[in-house]
Amino acid sequence: MNTNHLSERLAMVASFVPQDTVLADIGSDHAYLPCYLKNIGKIQRAVAGEVVKGPFESARRNVQLNGFSDHIEVRLANGLLAIEPADKVETVTIAGMGGTLITTILQDGMKRLDGVKRIVAQPNIHAIAIRQWAMKNGFLIADEEILQEDGKIYEVVVLERGIAEYSDADLLVGPILRKKNSDVFQAKWEREMCEWKRVIRALEQAERTEEIQKKKTEIEQKIELVRKVLTA
Ligand code: SAM
Repeated sequence: MNTNHLSERLAMVASFVPQDTVLADIGSDHAYLPCYLKNIGKIQRAVAGEVVKGPFESARRNVQLNGFSDHIEVRLANGLLAIEPADKVETVTIAGMGGTLITTILQDGMKRLDGVKRIVAQPNIHAIAIRQWAMKNGFLIADEEILQEDGKIYEVVVLERGIAEYSDADLLVGPILRKKNSDVFQAKWEREMCEWKRVIRALEQAERTEEIQKKKTEIEQKIELVRKVLTA
């Protein structure tokens, strides 16, 4: 992967960035995503935010090497603190982290989201946290995609301003992914169900405490939700 060629995962994130937008890429690492988007003429300008010094320096180097220093500003900052109101950011991308961390970044930086019209989130796990956060914070799920790369399955969740109510099943599997019902979607949830069933078998071997029983019931409820989705 480099600034001319993204992984399929990041290319999917890039595909949801609107033409001519002002972008903030949070957790930018090498800044591959904003550099690629500038390279293909898709963004006006961008902020690349990174909290760790090594990746921050690597992002800054890549931006300089590509000659994009006038259009991509690399900032060492925690989460959305990388964004200033004067940036007039319209689109935020946050990719390659867990859903819970992405949600914490969004929640902690809520005030910096004023003026942001679209958030493109690519959680490596636990996408449910992002959907739950959206529902509680005035965003709706505008689009979703799922893809498989190098044996791993990734979800991309696109949020826009709006009010929507989602069922427990929608929050877990994704309201749009569920409608698209792709082979990768089916494979993901069959995989998850296998894992949950393995955990249940392990719990059945353990001592019968209230806590274990509660855990088992929670997993059984998730299996039932997903079973209904897959057979609908
Ligand atoms: N976004 C790139 C991608 O999808 O390929 C890089 C993903 S990398 C696995 C996650 C990056 O997020 C790391 O460089 C990490 O330092 C950065 N990160 C983690 N927490 C962060 C935070 N609170 N604010 C900014 N960056 C963060």
